[in-house]
Amino acid sequence: MKLVSWQRALLLWFQGKVEVLEYHSTVARSARQDFPVPSVLRLKRFINNRRFSRVKFCRENVYRRDAYTCQYCGDEFGSKELTLDHVVPASKKGRKDWTNMVTACRKCNHRKANRTPLAANMPLLSEPRVPSWLPPIRSQVRIDSLPESWRIYLQSLDENFLEQITDDISKEFEERTG
Ligand SMILES: [Zn+2]
Repeated sequence: MKLVSWQRALLLWFQGKVEVLEYHSTVARSARQDFPVPSVLRLKRFINNRRFSRVKFCRENVYRRDAYTCQYCGDEFGSKELTLDHVVPASKKGRKDWTNMVTACRKCNHRKANRTPLAANMPLLSEPRVPSWLPPIRSQVRIDSLPESWRIYLQSLDENFLEQITDDISKEFEERTG
């Protein structure tokens, strides 16, 4: 299940890649014709979506994977007080990727300095992994504020899925509003 913008929904529909199960009551106007805006789509065939579902490696996403928790002292911080730490230091050829970068508070990062967790005697709280999905940034969107026509499709989904969807909506909203 995936959230797409209404513009992309129209495009996929015109390209014949999806069938429309439900429509919104609003219409999209083009020069020649008005189109009802699709609300729920079904892909006609499976599209290999790996490129889109892979979580982007960036500072904020590492914080999110680690739940904004310093992986050394276990305290929770806001993004501004957090840093990224190379588990194996860059000077020892540690890579900048999901499995070698963790969330650390300034104090712990400073204390660990240019050492491995073992050398610094600072064990990691959890082993850093490549995430397949991320927990939402404190979401502003509530399920009951979603379009009516989506609800029957969302009812059968579990909580993680719902959170992911509301998170997609928040992101979509943030992108549009700047
Ligand atoms: Zn810390």
